[in-house]
Amino acid sequence: MASAFTHSFIAVAAGTLAFPERLSVRIVVFGIFCALLPDLDVIGFRFGIPYGQWLGHRGFFHSLLFALLAGGAVTLLAFRSEQRFSKRWWFLAAYFTSVIASHGVLDAMTDGGYGVAFFSPFSNARYFLPWRPLTVAPIGVRGFFSRWGWDVLMSELLWIWVPVTLLLVVMSLARGQRSS
Ligand SMILES: [Zn+2]
Repeated sequence: MASAFTHSFIAVAAGTLAFPERLSVRIVVFGIFCALLPDLDVIGFRFGIPYGQWLGHRGFFHSLLFALLAGGAVTLLAFRSEQRFSKRWWFLAAYFTSVIASHGVLDAMTDGGYGVAFFSPFSNARYFLPWRPLTVAPIGVRGFFSRWGWDVLMSELLWIWVPVTLLLVVMSLARGQRSS
């Protein structure tokens, strides 16, 4: 995994871009929920599911199909007041799906663990991106308060937080210019 902070940060950043005028607290809360959702699969370790299996860590719950299904489910269940299958409904579903998928992409940029089974359950092949600048985060909280945790934060700050924040600033400046 990348750290929970960075998964959440991507959800908020994507929300700012996707909903520039109407980013509600509800969207942010469920966006963060979606960004962290795939790592629920670490529960599998408790039940003896091996890392490399399709239900193991970075398996099906990190796949694109799961992103699609869970993104739709969150929109259906948590945004009942939206008119179902309206343009806005689909936009929300696309946002949540993208956020869940972003989790696997970030994990595939880390330098440790197994790769991500993007095409599970059709294929259990594990993938990394060709570029893996992120230090893999420890599973669990305890490992985080160590030199390792520090390295994780620094690599994520440098390769994710700084460039994404710059992008947000540029986008908001461009929007400001357009509306003035
Ligand atoms: Zn993960």
